[in-house]
Amino acid sequence: APASSTNYIKSIIAEDLKSGREQEVVTRFPPEPNGYLHIGHAKSICLNFETADEFGGRTHLRFDDTNPLKEDTEYVESIKEDVKWLGFDWEKLFFASDFFDEMYERAVLLIKKGKAYVDDLSAEQIRETRGTLTQPGQNSPHRDRSASENLDLFTRMKAGEFKDGEKVLRAKIDMASPNMNMRDPVLYRIAHAHHHNTGDKWCIYPMYDFAHPLEDAIEGVTHSICTLEFADHRPLYDWTIQECEMENVPHQYEFGRLNITNTVMSKRKLKLLVDEKVVDGWDDPRMPTISGLRRKGYTPEAIREFCREIGVVKSNNSVVDEKLLEHFVREDLKLKAPRTMAVLNPLKVVITNYPEGQVETLEAENNSENEAMGVRHIPFSREIYIEQDDFMEEPPKGYHRLFPGNEVRLKHAYFIKCEDVVKDEAGNVVELRCTYDPETKSGTGFTGRKVKGTIHWVEATRAVPAEFRLYEPLILDEEAEEGDTFPGNINPNSLEVLQGFVEDNMKDAKPQDKFQFFRHGYFNVDSKDSQPGKPVFNRSVSLKSSFDV
Ligand code: ATP
Ligand code: MG
Ligand code: MG
Repeated sequence: APASSTNYIKSIIAEDLKSGREQEVVTRFPPEPNGYLHIGHAKSICLNFETADEFGGRTHLRFDDTNPLKEDTEYVESIKEDVKWLGFDWEKLFFASDFFDEMYERAVLLIKKGKAYVDDLSAEQIRETRGTLTQPGQNSPHRDRSASENLDLFTRMKAGEFKDGEKVLRAKIDMASPNMNMRDPVLYRIAHAHHHNTGDKWCIYPMYDFAHPLEDAIEGVTHSICTLEFADHRPLYDWTIQECEMENVPHQYEFGRLNITNTVMSKRKLKLLVDEKVVDGWDDPRMPTISGLRRKGYTPEAIREFCREIGVVKSNNSVVDEKLLEHFVREDLKLKAPRTMAVLNPLKVVITNYPEGQVETLEAENNSENEAMGVRHIPFSREIYIEQDDFMEEPPKGYHRLFPGNEVRLKHAYFIKCEDVVKDEAGNVVELRCTYDPETKSGTGFTGRKVKGTIHWVEATRAVPAEFRLYEPLILDEEAEEGDTFPGNINPNSLEVLQGFVEDNMKDAKPQDKFQFFRHGYFNVDSKDSQPGKPVFNRSVSLKSSFDV
């Protein structure tokens, strides 16, 4: 699919450059380091970096670290890694906390101008006196403190004289504003907490609505792109820039958040899944995190194509079908991944007329749609493994795989015919006895007769034992993000683990190597749990989907 060539943000930028309102384009991706990045962030990353790039501009990575209680350097490191892995390189790296001194100075300026005051009301009292959409709020009894009194109190807040929650700094705007965000919003709060970057230097921290526009202005950002829930904050954004007398005047634009079916996307919920051990960490392949998708075998190319395809719609928070993302994974891996054979539920087959002790080497193409990938050599002998469900003792009509008396083609090898079935005491089939026909060797042009089924297999004596992990959606509810059922709607069958075999040429497979296993789909070598001689394969995506793009 072609990249969506334009969107409303690009139109605005083009207009800004044409009219001379802006001379250059500077965007930023501003994550809060309170969790790992997810596929929703990828949309924002692609949008910011690709838009700036298109106009010859640049993009900053900025950690929006104004809340010391939730932030951690582990998250900082993972975010950097994920942005790079997605294929983007920031022009400059900032921490909002680098600007705490300047933000403080700007707050002092507001106080001196009579545009901010120290309030003694508690958070609850402030909420209660805010009014409603139909009722104006009430002025705080402390609203008319003099500038010098406010300055004194704010200095003492900074010096640590007060406890958390005892005082806040509020903007003095309009308690009757139809926009609730303009009713004297809190600019600074007290938090006696250690900060991952500034340590114990500060015990007052700026609120998002105050910090964000200042950060943008200090960095020289021109177009500050954020998600729709901040549309109502835009007047406060502009107020802050103006009243703080910032030299650079950035502008905020909003776009719809990305939501995906059968998953949750808020960091709070994702953290809960990690903390409650529902998953095995932030990078569990079932997680919609960038690190989880990477471990599952998704590629940066696939994620970027997906983000381009969904584009930027201003007006809605779209819920996109996860199958669309899977589609781009298949598209990307189709010509790149070698196509090999893996048996996930092994059933031993002995080929009774094949000479004992003999091993021959067969040639197999690596990718039937990409000749450039060449061929590999695979062993064949008297003993092989096939999939348990490629055999049925009493097959229904239309079953073309192995059953007593039936002949099938072994991919890249020979026709085999099922002659006999070996069972254990409980009556389970534990082995098949088959014969092969040397005339039918693959690649020799045999046309003597036809068979209807082709199955895959792995030669038994050289087979490499492997673990396979198959995934289902973590969340059952279609509208997981809306409903209140989380975490009650977790799919108990989201992970299935199987022990089987792969071809011997995969014994040296490295973490993150990708394969298409014939008839099973695309798999990725797990980067954490694979061991030499015992690879673990995570299924990235099955082969087919009903989804049309
Ligand atoms: P969460 O609710 O998951 O914590 P957030 O918006 O608080 O999300 P931030 O770290 O502040 O997370 O986000 C960094 C940037 O990524 C912001 O510009 C934000 O708007 C954007 N972003 C976050 N989630 C999504 C999403 N689902 N779709 C698109 N953009 C998103
Ligand atoms: Mg945020
Ligand atoms: Mg958040």
